[in-house]
Amino acid sequence: MSGQVAGGDAAGIDTTRPHPARMYDWFLGGKDNYPVDEAMGRRLLAVEPKVPVMAKVNRAFMQRSARWLAQQGVRQFLDVGTGIPTEPNLHQIVQGVAPQCRVVYCDNDPIVLAHAEALLRGTPEGAIDYVQADARRTDLILERAGEILDLDRPVALSLIALLHFVKDEDGAYELVERLVGALAPGSHLVISHATADADPEAAAQADEMYRNSAMNLALRSRAEFTRFFDGLELVEPGVVTPELWHPELGEPVPGQEDIVVPGYAAVARKV
Ligand code: SAH
Repeated sequence: MSGQVAGGDAAGIDTTRPHPARMYDWFLGGKDNYPVDEAMGRRLLAVEPKVPVMAKVNRAFMQRSARWLAQQGVRQFLDVGTGIPTEPNLHQIVQGVAPQCRVVYCDNDPIVLAHAEALLRGTPEGAIDYVQADARRTDLILERAGEILDLDRPVALSLIALLHFVKDEDGAYELVERLVGALAPGSHLVISHATADADPEAAAQADEMYRNSAMNLALRSRAEFTRFFDGLELVEPGVVTPELWHPELGEPVPGQEDIVVPGYAAVARKV
């Protein structure tokens, strides 16, 4: 762990600026956030009151896609941009389907590292590891993932609500290409992502707020989202808003029917 930082604590957690993982935790009703995160969360709510429902819709997509993959026989998972543990976590879903599932989690926020032990408690038959790294450090992630995953066999790579924090010029497409490029045929790529397509005005305001708080926000159009899957085979139902991706595999989030979810989700297979 890193040492003391200005305005932070011994774990390197900066409590002077809002962070995406902690804001997401606040929107989900969690306790692992600080007053700066709540303050920014409340400002965002004033512009877009539906954010808590959107956060839950996204989390529910993670759960359904993980369940679907495990039901398809996938036994190895690499989840980058994991977030603060929120039950059920991905390993609980997939090990619930098949206890031998192996999962590698990765996030760059020290608060996720501080809570990583909750991510590491899985089945005795399976294996779980946590890598503290920026998503762009693909060589490091793959090297560490290779310690418990067999990268010659299919892996499900999930980048759920991660890529809208990585701008094009910071290498969003390249990181996906490098990670997917290293995976065996039969692997899957799972992405959910925020968009400005649904409500450009609210999105522009959110974008400005994030910029003022020194956080990146890279909202992408449907075409820009779909580009992440270039060279892969999208599985049914293709690119949809997250609540429409295999809804039969879970329960609807209360309130989702009242909103237009400003995001896209899809799963694709590497052939
Ligand atoms: N995937 C989880 C959490 C989404 S919140 C879910 O959908 O429920 C987005 C997460 O991405 C946060 O935990 C944040 O810390 C992480 N993140 C943002 N930018 C990142 C980067 N460049 N590298 C690694 N993780 C990043």
